[in-house]
Amino acid sequence: MTVAVLVEGLTVEFGRFRAIDDLSLAIDYGEVRAVIGPNGAGKTTLLDVVSGVSRAKSGRILFDERLELTRRSEAAIARSGVRRKFQKPSVFEALSVRDNVEIGLGGANDAGSKEKVAAILETVGLSDHADRLASELAHGQKQWLEIAMVVVSEPKVLMLDEPVAGLTDEETERTAALVRRLRTPGRAIVVVEHDMDFVEAIADRVTVLHEGRTLFEGSMARARADARVVDVYLGR
Ligand code: ADP
Repeated sequence: MTVAVLVEGLTVEFGRFRAIDDLSLAIDYGEVRAVIGPNGAGKTTLLDVVSGVSRAKSGRILFDERLELTRRSEAAIARSGVRRKFQKPSVFEALSVRDNVEIGLGGANDAGSKEKVAAILETVGLSDHADRLASELAHGQKQWLEIAMVVVSEPKVLMLDEPVAGLTDEETERTAALVRRLRTPGRAIVVVEHDMDFVEAIADRVTVLHEGRTLFEGSMARARADARVVDVYLGR
């Protein structure tokens, strides 16, 4: 089976500081992978390099076992189907919910576009709010709108940066159900998140990063029982 994202010997430095240190990992199509670990472990930096925001010092990242992302621009990476939702909602407040999702389609306006927009609004639970201004939405609804703006382009790799930060318990549960609905055989979902109950609800596997390296990889249940993971992260 083709690997969606293959990270090989990746090193990222900021000046003399090594944020990612010879990291290798493979994320399969069809899986939800959570990347967890203490502050400063390198989680955001990893998403930054995959999405072309930061550059690697060495190593490479392959998408779909053919495209070397480490050589591409942020725009080219997004166009190839590797998409990221940043932590802070950045919706267009003065536009309707529906128009925001249409922007996510990137100008496509064929017969299927309207159906695609309607379908994704249904998936994220915002159908009843399609004609409202984005500015009128609650914080959780803005997060779902932003997920819709990314997912409407049918990404092959979907990266979510702290999708439940600041959400209520009920919003968090709804977001977990949404992430599970977005999981398809042709898509890899990568989530950085500190809410461990949320991670357990969504992730097929977790990668625990510590000082830019993989400390643990496996199920969340096993991560909770791993003495090293408890020591550097979960026990704190
Ligand atoms: P995490 O997301 O796991 O909290 P980050 O990837 O944000 O960790 O950061 C990893 C380390 O790299 C941190 O020590 C952070 O201070 C450092 N770092 C991240 N981005 C930069 C940057 N642009 N310049 C300098 N240091 C950075």
